[in-house]
Amino acid sequence: TKWVFSFGDGRAEGKAGDKNLLGGKGANLAEMSSLGLPVPPGFTITTEVCTHFYANGRSYPAELKGQVEAALAEIGRITGKAFGDPERLLLVSVRSGARASMPGMMDTVLNLGLNDETVEALGRESGDERFAWDSYRRFIQMFCDVVLELDHEVFEEILEEEKDRKGYELDTEFSAGELRHLVALYKEKVEAELGKPFPQDPHEQLWAAIGAVFSSWMNARAITYRRLHNIPESWGTAVNVQAMVFGNMGETSATGVAFTRNPSTGEKALYGEFLVNAQGEDVVAGIRTPQNITEAARIAAGSDKPSLEKVMPDAYREFVTISQRLEKHYRDMQDLEFTIERGRLWMLQTRSGKRTAKAALKIAVEMAAEALISRQEAVARIDPSSLDQLLHPTIDPKATREVIGSGLPASPGAATGEIVFTSDEAEEASKAGRKVILVRVETSPEDIHGMHAAEGILTTRGGMTSHAAVVARGMGKPCVSGAGGLRVDTKNGTLMAMGVTLKKGDMITIDGGSGQVLKGKVAMLQPELSGDFAQIMQWADETRRMKVRTNAETPADARMARSFGAEGIGLCRTEHMFFDGDRIVAMREMILADTEAGRRAALAKLLPMQRSDFVELFEIMAGLPVTIRLLDPPLHEFLPKTEEEIEEVAAAMGVSADKLRHRTETLHEFNPMLGHRGCRLAVSYPEIAEMQARAIFEAAVEAAKKTGSAVVPEVMVPLVGLKSELDFVKARIDAAAKEVMAETGVTIDYLTGTMIELPRAALRAHVIAETAEFFSFGTNDLTQTTFGISRDDASSFLETYRQKGVIEQDPFVSLDIDGVGELVRIAADKGRATRPEIKLGICGEHGGDPASISFCEEVGLDYVSCSPFRVPIARLAAAQAAV
Ligand code: ADP
Ligand code: MG
Ligand code: MG
Repeated sequence: TKWVFSFGDGRAEGKAGDKNLLGGKGANLAEMSSLGLPVPPGFTITTEVCTHFYANGRSYPAELKGQVEAALAEIGRITGKAFGDPERLLLVSVRSGARASMPGMMDTVLNLGLNDETVEALGRESGDERFAWDSYRRFIQMFCDVVLELDHEVFEEILEEEKDRKGYELDTEFSAGELRHLVALYKEKVEAELGKPFPQDPHEQLWAAIGAVFSSWMNARAITYRRLHNIPESWGTAVNVQAMVFGNMGETSATGVAFTRNPSTGEKALYGEFLVNAQGEDVVAGIRTPQNITEAARIAAGSDKPSLEKVMPDAYREFVTISQRLEKHYRDMQDLEFTIERGRLWMLQTRSGKRTAKAALKIAVEMAAEALISRQEAVARIDPSSLDQLLHPTIDPKATREVIGSGLPASPGAATGEIVFTSDEAEEASKAGRKVILVRVETSPEDIHGMHAAEGILTTRGGMTSHAAVVARGMGKPCVSGAGGLRVDTKNGTLMAMGVTLKKGDMITIDGGSGQVLKGKVAMLQPELSGDFAQIMQWADETRRMKVRTNAETPADARMARSFGAEGIGLCRTEHMFFDGDRIVAMREMILADTEAGRRAALAKLLPMQRSDFVELFEIMAGLPVTIRLLDPPLHEFLPKTEEEIEEVAAAMGVSADKLRHRTETLHEFNPMLGHRGCRLAVSYPEIAEMQARAIFEAAVEAAKKTGSAVVPEVMVPLVGLKSELDFVKARIDAAAKEVMAETGVTIDYLTGTMIELPRAALRAHVIAETAEFFSFGTNDLTQTTFGISRDDASSFLETYRQKGVIEQDPFVSLDIDGVGELVRIAADKGRATRPEIKLGICGEHGGDPASISFCEEVGLDYVSCSPFRVPIARLAAAQAAV
């Protein structure tokens, strides 16, 4: 088997398409090399070795050693050097690279091959001893951190002490001699901590580093990241070993990262940061404040530090050419890593760049306009879930802003919350239902859970490409990074800002669009959905087959959904219309009445309210379909709880509080989810269904008069398991329709259908379809009843299931296609067999989940229905599913 793939010198054994085998980084290094771009030569150990490693008690295939040695020799041939040979010193980097990029999850070791002897050779050969000792010190620190698991902080301490002793501000101020001394201190520390000296044999170093990369696939951070991003463990990582090039060889050397377009706004302009005389992650780590790449960006940022364009014009020009070429080649915005060694440019990485939703839209629309991609590709490029970010509020420009600091606009959107200083605090507070802003000096992969829990992230150090910025953009959370004017004191729980001292728990607002940090809570504005957003939506609408409706009861939600492009209401939960004001009292009266007459009296109060609600909904939906579900109350939610509530309802009903209390007790259910709800209520108390049907039809007549366009209400009976249940209720609905038509002289078109939310209904769908004119899959209840898992109680164990790998995804979030989906498929087929023109839709939470939507397309549903905020997501997901 071929376990090792070489690249370099204008050639490569792999290519961009080999990501599964070589990982993203390795595949793209190979591709760049084949394109003839300046890539330091190297080789990739495949992900199959990782699989082998874990399947065989952490050991390697027998042929690996020989293949690695041959590949090392090939690097030597290209560079004219030899690994481990002090006379022709070859140093390498050892870099992880999974299939999907996992930023910061796996660690890289640079300058590998240095030891007490070769460091002298490096100094001689480069004519720069300072550089040699700086490299060695970095190597010891990285190697210890990644491979020997000796925390890098022990070295930071030594470094800080030495800086203080000398009165230095920056690492770059150390002389060669001082760095040599620092290395001696480091090595002493290693020996003291680990009980053995720092390994000197380059081959031993190399194999230890390779082993550490493979082992890191199973470290806690990587596991968390994979869980959050649904990356299967079985993929494994590749290892890249590559000849070192040096950005820390003095003032003509540099290292940097760049995007071919602005990852925050999408603007078509090279965008990035670099540092002179630096190496590796220095830019990202926020050790010094980085410089802009282009002059234009420097001027826009008002920075007084010169741009790359100014300081290294030749390397800059070459970089611009290469970045444009790579963008054309990959037909997507690229995220690039580069190093300049004594004026010579080297490319170290390219990949499709992460971007905000706003940038993604702009880039897709503009690339389609540039004919770089097709419209359909533009639609396919947008992650539907990311649209969420655009639907976030921004700060009202008219609001008064008490600015207490500012940093970089690292991830857009505005957020308000209590200050917390640790990720654990963020998680605790959010579990308790409080909104928090996570405030840190900088973040690391250990903060992922806190960042998830927070509304927004604020850091005082780090640039646009810092960990906080990259991860926040990925999560769609507002982030302000590098707010240098703020002082965080984690120990005492304070944030000092322009003379103001804020404590943990105080409210702040961050504006990820401007980088401002504001005191207190600030008025927000709803987002603008025109421009690129509207363009992509239009292209999506041209592509999709399924309709998108919304789940809405209130006029406000219905209007919002219309503005988001909803094509009707797929689910109007009538019980939600009774929660507030006088209505709940009348509703309680109705539920608690123990005679039909009592119920009818209460229903008579509810009828006009119900009718006027429907008129308004019909008007807003102006001729679009509206599905109204008959009452499906979790009765217990409506029962009066406090003494006051009981007395209020008793007075309204003219009965004693005692009697009412007794009645409340008899209504108690052990398992309300499987209790007296849905159509069961309509069978027990047909007058409820009659009132609702009457309200619907009267409203339809009224709305048709007002708007001039006919409304075709779809009356939906919930929780049907038996055809006879549906028949029973439908008879009442039809009777009400007849009455209203006779009274008004207007003919009303309407449909009667049912939810499919019980396994029995799915299995007997062919029979139920004899009566039902439409099915709407109520996948929340269908998931509940198929799994036998109560949704309200599931959180206590489903998360454990996920963590232990027993399930991959919460079935209440993304449809369980194998099980619940199978029932949907069966019911759809059986329903169509009986009634070919039957209308099919979905109205559970899953109607707004892209993966579930793609399944709905496959089954051939006519529409999906989801909450108003998810309508744009569903429109896009439906389009992507249709291609
Ligand atoms: P990550 O996956 O975290 O981006 P990388 O493997 O890309 O890690 O390494 C991080 C950084 O280390 C790179 O951006 C680059 O600056 C530096 N680096 C890696 N390999 C080399 C090399 N062969 N020569 C010089 N610098 C390197
Ligand atoms: Mg990288
Ligand atoms: Mg239901």
